[in-house]
This record gives sequence, structure tokens and C-alpha cells, in this order.
Amino acid sequence: MAHYNYLIIGGGMTAASAIDGLRETDANGTIGVITAETHKPYDRPPLSKALWTGKKTLEEIMRPATHGNVTYHLGRVAQKLDLSGKQVHEDHGDTHTFDKLLLATGGTTRRLPFGRDDVIYFRTLADYQRLQELAKQHETFAVIGGGFIGSEVAAALAMNGKKVSLITPENGICARLFPAEAVAFFNDYYRQKGVEVITGESVVALEGTGVNLTLATKKNRRINANGVVAGIGIVPNVELAVAAGLKVDNGIVVDQSLRTSHPEVFAGGDVANYFDQALGARRRVEHEDLANTMGKAAGQAMAGANVNFTHTPFFYSDLFQIGYEAVGELDSRLQVIADWKEEFHTGVLYYLDNQRVRGVLLWNVWRKADEARALIATSETVAASALKGRIAFE
Ligand code: NAP
Repeated sequence: MAHYNYLIIGGGMTAASAIDGLRETDANGTIGVITAETHKPYDRPPLSKALWTGKKTLEEIMRPATHGNVTYHLGRVAQKLDLSGKQVHEDHGDTHTFDKLLLATGGTTRRLPFGRDDVIYFRTLADYQRLQELAKQHETFAVIGGGFIGSEVAAALAMNGKKVSLITPENGICARLFPAEAVAFFNDYYRQKGVEVITGESVVALEGTGVNLTLATKKNRRINANGVVAGIGIVPNVELAVAAGLKVDNGIVVDQSLRTSHPEVFAGGDVANYFDQALGARRRVEHEDLANTMGKAAGQAMAGANVNFTHTPFFYSDLFQIGYEAVGELDSRLQVIADWKEEFHTGVLYYLDNQRVRGVLLWNVWRKADEARALIATSETVAASALKGRIAFE
């Protein structure tokens, strides 16, 4: 049995940032990390972007391990959290005790009811390495899902000369994010880049094995592929918290100091439900900026610092030659006002609810995320017609 001043369950970007935050406040306390990952923490976004374009190498995505007194228990799954004994039991039979605990457990990929391990549910470094190896030797890939993973992995494979089919039940690429006209633009754009975009279709079966796979769709289409990737969302890993009796409601509920309903247990990252001040609402966010900022703040709070976390994170993507940053609530069901300098090339999209700006998408527009955040934070009502030019851009 090992005892840690600070024990972290999960070994992703939230955990890495929490260690940074802890060390800012406590130079020596012992830190333990239990993670199912077999790698130490790394940045996840490059797995579906920069690693495929050569903009980053594997070495560059590893988080710097500059802090001492940190013990990693890699390849281990925490199975039980005993709050009265302040201990965690993991699947190798070991038990670890703690003074303060951080739940940075992230999420698990949703799986299809068929295909077993022939489908790559793309999330980890190991998934990236598996797809990379396949792409070195084979040409044809199918990507299921048109969300963040689907759109980025399809672009990454196509940019590496692969023949890609993207299948989504929705009306196109990132349909939950972009207004319909932008979705239609992206569908065409991907097709021009050689991707077969199949919309309004669901995959119902996978036949074959190894690199000879065939997907069958609901409308009786058959798609052959050497590799099948799926990005159909994640489910937050709340089981430990639920079983321990912590408050859970669309994620582990934390207060503004990132404490859960137990004073010595904190949570952060994809799994945490927190209060976002600019939006004036509780939410759970599955993006890098939140993992990094909230992880750091949680580390500081665990080490005794006074923390009031209210950040509205941004997120970003690169889809072939188009890049964007976005802040707030980007829901294609909201009213969207587009301010284009050049249509579908450079512009700002404002997402409005009840005449209030809830989200801003900066399409090939950079260094404006703070302005977008400030606009969302004002509670003023705005007429749609007054939004053009509200955030100035080149
Ligand atoms: P996602 O962005 O939530 O997209 C999943 C998509 O798959 C949704 O559109 C979903 O539709 C659809 N879907 C669900 N079940 C399906 C099925 N059986 N067949 C086909 N499509 C199905 O999730 P993701 O792309 O898997 O990404 C996973 C996580 O990584 C997310 O949390 C995401 O935020 C994060 N991520 C972020 C970035 C970034 O910030 N740039 C990049 C990569 C990953 P419904 O919504 O209708 O269910």
C-alpha cells in the first residue's frame, strides 16, 4: 500500500496540468497517478491533426516530465474509491491511500454493437499508432461518425493520400456544430479533396477480418476498407464517483474550487460538470483548453490555493486548409449570424439564443477568442443586424 499526499486517477491532459498546478503551490508533496494509459501524459489533439501533417512529432506531444516526486501507475484501472478510508483499489490488487484525490477520469468511447476490435475507436496514442501502421501499408479507410474525430481523421488520412469514405447519419460534416449551409460547404469541400462523404446513413454491420473489411449500411450500401475508424462520441467515466456516493449529474458535479461533494475529492476535465460564468450555466466540456486550465486550477486547489474557476474554454480544429477557433455554446440549432469577409473562407459566426450571443466561431480568424469570450459574457441583448463587424478581423 502506497500513500500519496495527492492521488490522481486518470493520466491525460487534465492530470498533467494538475501536476503543474500542484507543483506551483506545493514543491514536495508526493503525487501518485493511476491510469489505464500505458504512456505518460501527452497532448491529445495532435493525434488527429498535427502528427499527420508532420507539424509535430511523437516526442513533441509528450508532456514534459519536469516535476519530481511523481509516481505513475501505468496500465492500471482504479476499481473502487473508498471515501471513508481515503483509499483507491486498482485492478492489479494494489491499494493507494491519499490526503487529496483528483478524479480526472475522462471518458470512454462509445462502441458499435458489432465489429469488436476490428474497429479503431480513435482516442489514445495507441489508437493513433495502430492507424498509422495500417495507413503505411494500406490504402482504403472508412470513418464512421462526422463529429470532431470523424472530420479530423478523415482529413488526416486523405491528406496522406488514402482513399477515405466518411459515413454519418446526420446531414454532413460536423452537423451539430455548423449551420446547414456550412455543413453543405464542408461536404463539398471534403468531396473535392477526394473523400467520399456519405450522409444520412448508418452502419449496421461489419463483415470480414483483419484488413479485408466490409461495412454494411442501413440502406444496403457496402463499403470495403482495409481499416475502419469510429468517432461516435464518448461517455464520461463517472462509475467510481457514482459508486462512492459523490454527486453526479451529466458528469461529476464540482463547485468553483473544483471540489466534488466530498471536500477532499476534486474533479476536472471531460468528466467534470462545472459552472461556466460567461455562459451563466453548468456544463461539461470535452476539449483540450478546458482540460489544461481546469486541470491546473484543480491542482492548485488541491494544494490549498484559493481557486475560483469560471473559465469559458475555446476549442479549435484543422480540416484540410480550413482552421477555426470557437468559444461558448456552438449548437447548430441556435440562430447563426455569419459575418463573412469571404464566404466559407474567412469570417465570424455568431450563435444567438434569445438575442444573446452564446457562442462564436472564428473561421480562419485568429487571436480573437478573448473578444469572443467577453462578448458572450455580456448579458446584453443584441439585434442580429448589429452583429456584423462586432468582432473586427482581417
Ligand atoms: P463527437 O464530436 O461527439 O461526434 C460523434 C458523432 O458521431 C456525433 O455527431 C454523433 O451523432 C455521431 N454518432 C453517434 N452514434 C453514431 C453511430 N452509431 N454511427 C455514426 N455516427 C454516430 O465525438 P467524437 O468525434 O467521437 O470525439 C470524441 C471526443 O473527442 C469529443 O469529446 C470531442 O470533443 C473530442 N475531440 C475534440 C477535438 C477538438 O476539439 N478539435 C478533436 C477530436 C476529438 P449524435 O450526436 O447524433 O449522437
